[in-house]
Amino acid sequence: MANYSTMNVGGKADALIILYSAVEMENFIKKLWDLGISFTILGSGSNVLISDKGIRELVLVNHAHNLRINTNVQPASVWAESGANLAQVARQTGLRGLSGLEWASAVPGTVGGAGMECWSL
Ligand SMILES: Cc1cc2nc3c(=O)[nH]c(=O)nc-3n(C[C@H](O)[C@H](O)[C@H](O)COP(=O)(O)OP(=O)(O)OC[C@H]3O[C@@H](n4cnc5c(N)ncnc54)[C@H](O)[C@@H]3O)c2cc1C
Repeated sequence: MANYSTMNVGGKADALIILYSAVEMENFIKKLWDLGISFTILGSGSNVLISDKGIRELVLVNHAHNLRINTNVQPASVWAESGANLAQVARQTGLRGLSGLEWASAVPGTVGGAGMECWSL
């Protein structure tokens, strides 16, 4: 797991799968629920300290990072998949003249890892 944590520590997981879109995540996780398979979800691994003993279950790494910003509506809207990098979201909103996410411009984690569902800019 060292390759999936910003601290570069952590032993092996039982299995690891990278998911690249919200739809892929939804479908895959529904199947895991149906099968009763437990899992751990990780974003950038910037807020976890993984044991050298590793993780004794399936790890899902969330690379679903689509981002949509609409400045043609009032107020502007920002839609991000949970694997979107916070700093990228902050940069892209800033480039479009939106304020409110300046704090996130140096945060290495993902939107999902931050537990954020929506923002008001
Ligand atoms: C320098 C720095 C500054 C920060 N400043 C702020 C701040 O100002 N305000 C603020 O709110 N936060 C701040 N944070 C916290 C930051 O938002 C989180 O550490 C980061 O978003 C975690 O994202 P991650 O993808 O690395 O999570 P990970 O380390 O991968 O995971 C962290 C936890 O979240 C769970 N998780 C990850 N993704 C999901 C998901 N999609 N759904 C459900 N659970 C999930 C994991 O299982 C794990 O338990 C800061 C962090 C840093 C390092």
